[in-house]
Amino acid sequence: MKILKVDHLGIAVNSIEEGKNFWSDILGLPLEGVETVEEQKVTTAFLPVGESEVELLESTSPDGPVAKYIEKKGQGIQHVAFRVDDIDAALAELKEKGVQLIDQVPRRGAGGGRIAFLHPKATGGVLVELCERPND
Ligand code: ZN
Repeated sequence: MKILKVDHLGIAVNSIEEGKNFWSDILGLPLEGVETVEEQKVTTAFLPVGESEVELLESTSPDGPVAKYIEKKGQGIQHVAFRVDDIDAALAELKEKGVQLIDQVPRRGAGGGRIAFLHPKATGGVLVELCERPND
């Protein structure tokens, strides 16, 4: 498995409009690519920071995973995403090492990439996302 970089930090917010006040208006990060991923009940906004990005996550439904996260823990960092060169190979390697996965196979993420989450039980409490982007 080859991890290329920290791709982004996923931050759960009550609303992107509200989150934008700090992350974009105050810090000055450009807000790019707002996209809704219906099957994950989430709207995402990406704010590039150098080689990485901040991803704001707003739930589209009270029973979505982001809404549930905020209900339990409040707004804040929800996951860390690593860019990998080959997500299928990475998942196969993790399975072989006995790491508990949330996604056995990659699913579609925002921006046309493929993503998969590892179970926080296997990572010391951090929700880790692997992502592969089409332009890699
Ligand atoms: Zn993410």
